[in-house]
Amino acid sequence: MRQSELFIKTFKQDPKDEVFPGIKFLRRGGFVGKVGAGIYNYLPLGKRVLDKIEAIVRQGMKELGGVEILMPALQPSENWKKTGRWDGLDILYKIKSRAKQDFALGPTHEEIVVPLVKEFLSSYRDLPVYLYQIQTKFRDEPRARSGLVRAKEFIMKDLYSFHRDEKDMDDYYEKAGEVYKKIFTQIGLKTIQTKASGGTFSKFSDEFQAVSETGEDTVYFCKKCVLGINKEIFEGKCLECGDEKLDEFKTIEVGNIFKLKTKYSEAFDLKIKDADGSFKTVLMGCYGIGISRAMGAVAEIFNDKNGLLWPEGIAPFKFHLLNLSKNAKRAEKIYRDLQNSNIEVLYDDREEKSAGEKLVEADLLGLPYRLVTSDKLKEGEIELRKRGEKEVKIVLIEELLSKNF
Ligand SMILES: [Zn+2]
Repeated sequence: MRQSELFIKTFKQDPKDEVFPGIKFLRRGGFVGKVGAGIYNYLPLGKRVLDKIEAIVRQGMKELGGVEILMPALQPSENWKKTGRWDGLDILYKIKSRAKQDFALGPTHEEIVVPLVKEFLSSYRDLPVYLYQIQTKFRDEPRARSGLVRAKEFIMKDLYSFHRDEKDMDDYYEKAGEVYKKIFTQIGLKTIQTKASGGTFSKFSDEFQAVSETGEDTVYFCKKCVLGINKEIFEGKCLECGDEKLDEFKTIEVGNIFKLKTKYSEAFDLKIKDADGSFKTVLMGCYGIGISRAMGAVAEIFNDKNGLLWPEGIAPFKFHLLNLSKNAKRAEKIYRDLQNSNIEVLYDDREEKSAGEKLVEADLLGLPYRLVTSDKLKEGEIELRKRGEKEVKIVLIEELLSKNF
C-alpha cells in the first residue's frame, strides 16, 4: 500500500488525554482515533492489525471445532431479567426504545446464545455444541483511562460450549486453555495462565495475563508450577506446591475461560433427553479473547522511546519501504516486485516529506523491517533495518524477494 493513499497523518506530540505510552503511540501513529473516553475509531493501519489478530483467533477456533455465528449487540431486557443480570450487572448499558421497551447493549452473550441453542437442541446426540463470534461489545466503564485495554466499546471473540456431562466440559476446557496459549504466542504475547476466582459456580476460572508495566492487574507467578494466581484470590502461597516465594507481575488480561456449568442453562431451562430417557440440564463453558484489547496490550508492551514495535504475526505490514532518492524509479520497481512476490509492504512514496521525517515516522509506526532506497546505494541493493535494532544491512533486492523472511 502507498502511504500517499493511506488517508491518515501522524502526530509529533503526545495526545494529552491518554495516560499510557502504547495508546499514545497508537494515536500518534494514526492507528486509532479517539471519539470519546473509551471509544475509538480504528483507522486503516489499526484495522489491519485487528484483522490479523482475528485471523489467528479464527484459526484457533477451528482447532477447537468452533462454528462461527453473529449475535446481536441489541438485546431484549427480558433475557437479562431471566438470569438476574438486568439489575445485577453494573456495567450493563441499558437503553429504551420509543415504544418504551428496554434493551441492553451486550457486554457478553450468554443471554442470547442459550435461548438460541435451546431452539435447535433436542437430544444428547446433538451435543457437544461449540459456537463462537467476533463481535462488538459494550461496558459502561467508569474509568476508561487505559486506551484500548479498558474501553466502553470493544471487539471480542466469545466462544460458548455446551456439554452432556462434566467430564466432556472439563476436557474441552483443558483443550481450550492449550489453544489459547498458542493463539497468544502467535499474536506475539507471552501470557501467564492465571487462576482467578471463578465466582459461585466453579472454584477457579483461568485468565491469560500478559506481563506489562502499565497493567492494571497483579499476578503472582510460581516458576516451579508455571502457574499464575491473581492477586484478588492470592492467599500468600502457590495453589499447587504451597511455595511462598512467588514473583509479582503487573499484567493485562487478554483472555479468560470459565466453566459456567448450569448457571445459564438453568435460567433458560436448557435440557436434553439423555440415553436413559431422563432429562438433564446442559453444562456450559465460555471462552473470551479481547481482540481490540490484545492490540492495545501489544502496543503497551512493545514500544520504545521512538514508537511501536509490532510483532511480525500481527504487524499491519511486514516491510516499510522508504524512498529517500530524488528519483523514485528504483523504489517504484522494488514496490512492484515485493507486491508481485506477495510480500506485504507499506511504501512511503510521499514527495513532500523529507528523509528525516520519513525515518522518524517509520520508527513511530514500528513495522518489523524498514527498507530504504537512496542514491548512495548501487543498483540492485537496498538498506534493511529490523525495528528495534541499530544495525543497518545492505542486502540485494533479489535476496529479499527470494528469502523467506
Ligand atoms: Zn507452585
